[in-house]
Amino acid sequence: MSIRSGILLKLSFSVITTIAAQCAVAADQASQPIVLKAAHLFDAVGGKLLDNGVIVIDARKIKSMGNQGPLPQNARVIDLGDATLMPGFIDAHVHLSGESGDDWYKDFFDGIKRFPAEQALYGAHYAKITLEAGVTTVRDVGSSDYIALGLRNAIRDGMIPGPRMLVSNYAIGSTGGHADQDPIPPQTIAVAGTIKGICNGADQCREAVRYQVKYGADVIKFMPSGGVLSLSDPVDNVQLTQEEMNAIVSEAHRWNRKVAAHCHGDTAAKMAIMAGVDSIEHGSFLKESTLAEMKKKHIYLVPTLSALNGSGFKLDKFPPAIAMKAKAAIAQQTIMFQQALKVGTPIAMGTDAAVGRHGRNGFEFELMTNAGMKPEQALIAGTASAAELLGVSDLTGSLVSGKFADIIAVRGNPLRDMTTTARPIFVMKEGQIYVGGM
Ligand SMILES: [Zn+2]
Repeated sequence: MSIRSGILLKLSFSVITTIAAQCAVAADQASQPIVLKAAHLFDAVGGKLLDNGVIVIDARKIKSMGNQGPLPQNARVIDLGDATLMPGFIDAHVHLSGESGDDWYKDFFDGIKRFPAEQALYGAHYAKITLEAGVTTVRDVGSSDYIALGLRNAIRDGMIPGPRMLVSNYAIGSTGGHADQDPIPPQTIAVAGTIKGICNGADQCREAVRYQVKYGADVIKFMPSGGVLSLSDPVDNVQLTQEEMNAIVSEAHRWNRKVAAHCHGDTAAKMAIMAGVDSIEHGSFLKESTLAEMKKKHIYLVPTLSALNGSGFKLDKFPPAIAMKAKAAIAQQTIMFQQALKVGTPIAMGTDAAVGRHGRNGFEFELMTNAGMKPEQALIAGTASAAELLGVSDLTGSLVSGKFADIIAVRGNPLRDMTTTARPIFVMKEGQIYVGGM
């Protein structure tokens, strides 16, 4: 045995011992069933609020609901009083690896001088406060330096608290487009290639997808249209050819990855839909005919209303080019969202947290209902529908026996007061309690 393989063997033994110790602790905590009780329950199946909510949790899963059988004798009973038990929220659009503050210029400088390991520690904090906000699953649609991937793995392995994560790694897009770096001279910031998601031509775009999959992406994110927080592109132009979009989507599907398309512009969205995309993110300038086409093909809209709405987004703190684009998108967003409601486009909740602050995900429910969505529809958008879009319906997204015990509770009745979703009093993920229940 070489010295190197000896060290590796020792390392693997210590990793195995650590994991075994964690499993023992987890098994110990999980050995006692938990019964959750609250005045109300919203299971995200029927769309109605039920009274006298009771859920039995055994190990990491929901064992039974309501009056499905006698309660286990040795259970720990947690009575949450006048609250509503609900499935943990699912946010279909976050970036847990970073966060914009109130000052774009400071953020920009902080961003380029921070080391990836340093940034990952910020990410761990954002993951924790996202979970504490009641979000038990997220789809992370774009990050640099594999930080979101690292967070996903560390959370999965029980090293840090956070929501279950599906990650895209680098977002894919054209040179000079919304996925590319700002136009800082190449001697200061190196030009990005396919490994970082930047591609031109169908072959390169396939390669960019393959790189993200190679390094562990669960989902592919790409940029058919311009965006707000980039310096040199229009907000709604088309940034990839139809051939490039077809290559990205077909390649991702070949690897069994769903595809999320960042689209403010309508023409770009139409092209992405033609390519067979699974969701359109933002959608600020989408026309009614496009929203109707999405309904027909069961393509989700992830409206991210909180990204630019009342989330500390101060236009005067941005370069004029970005402020102008933000203003144009804000002006159209609510009109588009109301058209989507009218048409019946499938909607999954997403906040774009990172553009707005992390840990205020529930605010999106308030914005969606203020814009005309029915409260029960909004809650389903952030639970069962988002689970369907992410492809995790068999694991989570509704309170059904056999699914993971991803359960939260909010005070009172959220269908009457949607602001309660912003401050859950109880958060459980896979049977483990992170907020309340003491
Ligand atoms: Zn985003």
